[in-house]
Amino acid sequence: MNTRSLMVMAVLAAAPARAQDCEIVLHGGKVATMDERGTMATSVTIKGDRITAVGTAPGVPPHDACAALIDLGGRTVLPGLIDSHNHIVQLSLRPGHERRIEIAATIADAQATIRAGATSVPAGGWITSIGGWSPNQLAEKRMPTLAELDAAAPRHPVYLQTGFNGPAATNSQGRAFLTTRGVAVGADGSIASGAATLAALGALRSLQTFEDRKRGALDAMKYAASLGLTMSVDKGGSWPATVPGAQGLAQLGNGAANEIDPFTGYDHFVALNNEGSMPVRLRIFYYMQDLKPELPFLTARFNNQYPGFGNDYLRISGVGERIHAQTAPPEVFEAAVRLTAERGWAYDQHTQGPEDQAAITAMWEKLNATIPLAPLRWCLAHMPGATTETLMRLKALGVGVSAAGGRYLAGPVPRTSPDEVPPFRRLVDSGIRVGYGSDGGTVAPLNPWAHIYYMVTGKNNAGELVAAGQTLTRVQALRMYTSSQPWFTRDEQKVGSIEPGKLADVVVLSADVLDAARVPDEAIRKITSALTIVGGKVVHQTDVVRVRRPTGR
Ligand SMILES: [Zn+2]
Repeated sequence: MNTRSLMVMAVLAAAPARAQDCEIVLHGGKVATMDERGTMATSVTIKGDRITAVGTAPGVPPHDACAALIDLGGRTVLPGLIDSHNHIVQLSLRPGHERRIEIAATIADAQATIRAGATSVPAGGWITSIGGWSPNQLAEKRMPTLAELDAAAPRHPVYLQTGFNGPAATNSQGRAFLTTRGVAVGADGSIASGAATLAALGALRSLQTFEDRKRGALDAMKYAASLGLTMSVDKGGSWPATVPGAQGLAQLGNGAANEIDPFTGYDHFVALNNEGSMPVRLRIFYYMQDLKPELPFLTARFNNQYPGFGNDYLRISGVGERIHAQTAPPEVFEAAVRLTAERGWAYDQHTQGPEDQAAITAMWEKLNATIPLAPLRWCLAHMPGATTETLMRLKALGVGVSAAGGRYLAGPVPRTSPDEVPPFRRLVDSGIRVGYGSDGGTVAPLNPWAHIYYMVTGKNNAGELVAAGQTLTRVQALRMYTSSQPWFTRDEQKVGSIEPGKLADVVVLSADVLDAARVPDEAIRKITSALTIVGGKVVHQTDVVRVRRPTGR
């Protein structure tokens, strides 16, 4: 070694370590790795964006001099949760400051969320909670009133909405603004579903800037991080009538809460990714709306987009959950499915029940004779009432399915049997590749713990047993949100389990979901994250577990 290299080494040794060069060592925990063997470990070591070691011995594992050592005090650790079918992009586009009342059990709970949420919203700023909840989950079984919303947020306009198009409710400040925009609002703050709700939503959207959209995306991602959800696979939404060339071609959103512009609706996420400020990961599936067998939109999409383009935070993964307009003739659907196979894209297909599941399976089987589907990672989504026969045929094709939480919300149409919701146990027992999609954002909660509760208890948000005989164990339900998920987006080498070499997406839970004696079923929905790490970065922490970097960076 020459003098010069000794000098360089001396300089390096003298420089304070940068935080990203120092390990984070979580030890003294109950680490459910979700690896293939179901290893339970005690420690996880993180360096840079990766997991570098997983320990099973008691005590603090070997570590660098500058490591941040975090004693977990026996707390439970999981791989970052992955949602393989949700609508976080719809959620990000909500006007106002979104404060989710997804698991409120009473109007007082909803008020508490709004009251706490208001503390970080400038006076006069809109507080919203749009989609992902229903009055059936509240003990009062009704929408909150103007007086109740005034009590929760006297200095802010408030707007609550259920589903795609209402009903909605507002407070005094909100009513004053909306009535000047010609929206019909009752004296009690009620806004009827349909035209009145769409007018209210449109009025709020007219106030939104691009910066608001970026904040909305950050709010949605921070909400996800606070619950341990570290990757969302987004399945798009209906196109607005303003999309150039879409008039007459596409099935339009008509201003409803599930609307996304297919060309500009992701720009705010791209901007955040370019700034390096995505706290959690996003995978995009493009929702397509062709009405003609020439497939002008789908063809253009495939001609101008690279599948798999992006980075570990934001990536283009596939097309779906629709690849044609619902109102199109059947030959359009068949042409779209064939083109998607020819171009080799991953694809997710919405289903309603056993009949369309069987029909789509038959179409895929026919196509499989000329283009093998197994390498393409296709997925039949939602799967209410899925039959064993269809599942076996799909399994033989080498495709996957995802159970969805869209029917977790008790609605005006009672869904009370496994024929109307995903038969979770039948899906798992079939041995097919199966993951879980919350469908969260508009029709269901984004909160993964609401859905883990749904799979474990078979109960919907009103507490009604809707999946009798089809429930999963807690470990099975957790696998539906972890190790089962990354196959669908070709991320299985990177996320879904706590193993050396994988991206360091790790969550310390507020309560031990694996201990039914201490966390009864009804408490599962209240679980949150005490500490969320994504790619080695702390993206959410609480006073329960805090990472203090030795260098303060
Ligand atoms: Zn969906």
